[in-house]
Amino acid sequence: MGLRLHNTFSNKIEDFKPLGEVVRIYSCGLTVQSAPHIGHMRAYMVRDVLVRWLVHSGYKVKTLENFTDIDDKIIEKQKEQKRDWRIIADENIAKYLDACDKLNIKRADFYPRATQHIEEIIELVNKLIEKGFAYEKGGDVYFKVRQFPDYGKLSKKNIDDLVSGARCVPTEHKEDPLDFALWKAAKPGEPYWISPWGKGRPGWHIECSAMSMHHLGETFDIHTGGEDLIFPHHENEIAQSECATGKKFARYWLHNGWVTLGGEKMAKSTGHYFLIEDVLKDYRPNVIRLYLLKTQYRHQIEFSRERLNEAKAAYLRIQTYIHGFENLPETTEPLKLKEFTEAMDDDLNTPKALGIIFDLIKQGYEKPSLDIATSIKYYLKIMGFIEEVPEQPLADIVEILHEVKVKLKEKKSTLLDTATLGFWNLLEDIKTSEEFFPNLIYVLLQIRNQLRKDKDYELADFIRKRLAQKGIQIFDKGDVSTFRVEAK
Ligand SMILES: [Zn+2]
Repeated sequence: MGLRLHNTFSNKIEDFKPLGEVVRIYSCGLTVQSAPHIGHMRAYMVRDVLVRWLVHSGYKVKTLENFTDIDDKIIEKQKEQKRDWRIIADENIAKYLDACDKLNIKRADFYPRATQHIEEIIELVNKLIEKGFAYEKGGDVYFKVRQFPDYGKLSKKNIDDLVSGARCVPTEHKEDPLDFALWKAAKPGEPYWISPWGKGRPGWHIECSAMSMHHLGETFDIHTGGEDLIFPHHENEIAQSECATGKKFARYWLHNGWVTLGGEKMAKSTGHYFLIEDVLKDYRPNVIRLYLLKTQYRHQIEFSRERLNEAKAAYLRIQTYIHGFENLPETTEPLKLKEFTEAMDDDLNTPKALGIIFDLIKQGYEKPSLDIATSIKYYLKIMGFIEEVPEQPLADIVEILHEVKVKLKEKKSTLLDTATLGFWNLLEDIKTSEEFFPNLIYVLLQIRNQLRKDKDYELADFIRKRLAQKGIQIFDKGDVSTFRVEAK
C-alpha cells in the first residue's frame, strides 16, 4: 500500500510519492527569542517520527530546519534584557538542540539561520521586484498579494474576505493592506544589513522561501509546521516562492495540531506555556514521547500532568515487561508487522501503532513470550523511543526476579509457569507507576509463599535474604506476608 499522508493543500490523504531519490523535507524552525515549550517540541517530534518511518520504509531523506534569529521579538528581547540579540539567539538555539537530543529527536541535516542567508533573501526579493510581484517604499519591500491569483489556496481563504481583516499600521508603507513585508527598513539602533533598499532586515516569511529553495531546490517534497503557520506564514511562502520560480513550491504540506493548555494554544506571547526544560525535569524523555505520540499528529493535545502521569504508567508497563527478559535479542520478524505498518502508513497513525504495542503487552502479560518482547522492542525503536535500563530500585527487584526464575528453571519447577502467570496477571492490574515497585515485591512474596507451602525453604529463604540486601524486610504472619522498605 505504501505511505499515505494528509496534505493540507488538497485537504485529503494522498499516496506519498517523492520527486526524486531523496525525500526533501523543510520544517519551519523556531524564532529563537526564548526557550522552547512543549508545544514547539511536538512539531519536531512529528517530523522525527515521519523521518524515522520514511527511513524505515527504505527512503533516503534530507531535512532542513531554519532558525529565525532576527525579527521584531528578538529585537524586543535585546532591549528588554540589554543583551546582544546574537547571544540571545545562540542561547535559545542551544537550549532547543539540547531538548531535541534529550528527546531523541533526530537532528535535521541542516539548521540554517536567517542571518546566514541574507544574500539569498536579497536575491529572491530582487527577483520578485523585477517580476512585478513586489515593490519598495520607504526602505521597506512589500509583496503584492493581489498579483498572485492563487493566494489563499493552502488556507482556503478568499482574498476578498481577507480585506476586511487586513489593517495598515501607520509606520508601514503598504499600497494595499493585504500586502506583506519582504524586507523591513531598520529603525535607529536596530541590527541591519545593507541591501539595495538601504539598511534593513528580512521579513519572516521570505527567509523560509529563500532557505528552503536554496538547500532543497525550487520544488521539494514535504513542508512541515504547526497548524498555526498555515495562514499567513505558509500561504505567503507559497506566494513568494511560486511567483519567483513559476513552479510548484512544496508538494505535501503536513501540519501538526497544537498542544493546548485549558483548551488554548500554548504560546510564548501570552505567557501560557510549559517550557520543555521544565517538563523534562519531571518526566523522562520516553514518557514525553509516549504522551505526544498517543495522539495522531493532526489533532490537538491538551497538556496535563494527569495525562503525562498516565503516559508514565503506560510506559513503565512496557518497560517492565521488556525488562522481564534478560539480554533481549533483536528481531527482524516482529509480530503484527502488517498491522503496525498499516497504521504508520496511514498518515502516521501513532495512536494505532502504540495500540498494537499495548495489545502485545496485554497478550504478553497473559502468556509471557520472547517473541512479544522482541517485537515490542523493535517497534519502540522505530518510533524513536530510547532504549533504557530499568531504574534503581526497580532494577533491584527485576534482578531478584531473574535470579529466582533461573533457580526455578534449574529445579524444573512447575511453579515457574504458575508463578510467572501470577506475576504477569498481577502487573495487569497496575494503573500507576507508583504501584509497580510494591507490586513487583508482592510477586516475589507470592512466589515465596508458594515455595514455603511446597516446603522449598531454601529458595524461599533466598528470596527473603536477597530482598533484605536491598533494604526490604519481610514479615510473615501465618500465610500472609508483608514488607517494609528500610529508610536509607
Ligand atoms: Zn517558515
